[in-house]
Amino acid sequence: MELFKPVDLSKDVQKADIKDIERVKCLIVGSGPAGYTAAIYASRANLKPVLYTGLQMGGQLTTTTEVDNYPGYPDGVTGPEMMEDLKKQAERFGADIRFGIATAADFSGKPHKVTIDDNKIIEADTVIIATGATAKYLGLESETKYAGMGVSACATCDGFFYRGKDVAVVGGGDTAAEEATYLAGLCHKVYLIVRRDALRASKAMQERVMNTKNIEVLWEHQTIELFGENGVEGATLVKKKGTPGEEVVKIKIDGFFLAIGHTPNSEIFKNYLETDSVGYIKTMPGTSRTNIPGVFAAGDVQDPHYRQAITAAGSGCIAAIDAERYLADMKQVL
Ligand code: FAD
Ligand code: NAP
Repeated sequence: MELFKPVDLSKDVQKADIKDIERVKCLIVGSGPAGYTAAIYASRANLKPVLYTGLQMGGQLTTTTEVDNYPGYPDGVTGPEMMEDLKKQAERFGADIRFGIATAADFSGKPHKVTIDDNKIIEADTVIIATGATAKYLGLESETKYAGMGVSACATCDGFFYRGKDVAVVGGGDTAAEEATYLAGLCHKVYLIVRRDALRASKAMQERVMNTKNIEVLWEHQTIELFGENGVEGATLVKKKGTPGEEVVKIKIDGFFLAIGHTPNSEIFKNYLETDSVGYIKTMPGTSRTNIPGVFAAGDVQDPHYRQAITAAGSGCIAAIDAERYLADMKQVL
């Protein structure tokens, strides 16, 4: 079975007039667990990696407080501290970590070209894309107000803090169903807030939700706002919005979990790289290889399923090893 379809390599999306050009063996884009781990392995393999951090130096974990499930920290660690540790470890082996944003890519020939901040081109023999994925939010003011104080987009990460409490999950897809059943195993009660009268989730996941006693599905409900003194204490919902039966409902909850999808940060690579319908970069199973030889993807940007720091770090390691072996194979060919 062919995994990758041929892509049109004729599109040149780079600016033609950029004079600042630098050639590297290995370029890493992104500074989350995947990018920094790739940098640790690539620098130890003497690939002299250059890593561009993007706007969010340290990635998603810099937006959280406690990380309790990353191996090696028996007493837990804050997200920003952990990412600083990973950065230092990569720098210890010589990784060149720079602040900058990849703004365009051209994978039509060799070397691969990635534009940084619209004013510099990095020509690279190998590129490791580790740009992560961004959780979607409803866009409510109170979501921002209670970020880290009851609002979360990751039940696996934060569910533990809500043991024995009442929480709500928003969404009707597989992620929402999965997160609701996961939380049901920890929490006293889980409300699943679904905007339509049906779930989008697969039949198997729907059955799991329906067969879990402490999940209550709130059909045709939409969240208007969250409320609480020093954190989330409840949510105001509207039932059957815009119909004669419209009704405002309040629920008491301690945690509000978003599960309405993620956006993989793959936009600038899409002209060349094959992605799934959501935008996750496709890799060959068990590897980090994309459809373009020499271009590898690691972490959440290629992972619709697990999206954890440890899985991202693991795939960063895989990407650096794949890049090293690719370069070794190229040497043999020449
Ligand atoms: P990210 O961490 O998303 O990093 C992506 C990087 O790419 C960033 O540095 C960004 O600046 C950079 N980037 C993006 N676009 C560009 C560009 N164009 N050019 C250059 N750079 C770019 N997981 C756990 O295992 N345990 C937890 O407790 C946990 N808690 C979490 C709490 C919160 C609030 C969130 C949001 C997530 C949490 N996660 C947790 C999930 C975890 O953070 C992610 O799975 C992990 O960070 C993914 O790593 P990554 O390296 O793939 O990408
Ligand atoms: P998804 O399938 O796109 O579902 C998103 C859900 O959120 C939909 O039910 C959608 O409602 C709802 N939603 C979107 N915007 C909303 C809003 N503003 N307010 C309220 N609800 C909103 O996303 P996903 O569940 O993250 O799944 C992504 C992909 O990963 C899917 O292909 C899924 O099958 C896969 N996945 C698989 C598994 C598994 O197999 N175990 C687990 C997780 C994910 P509507 O239905 O009304 O559009």
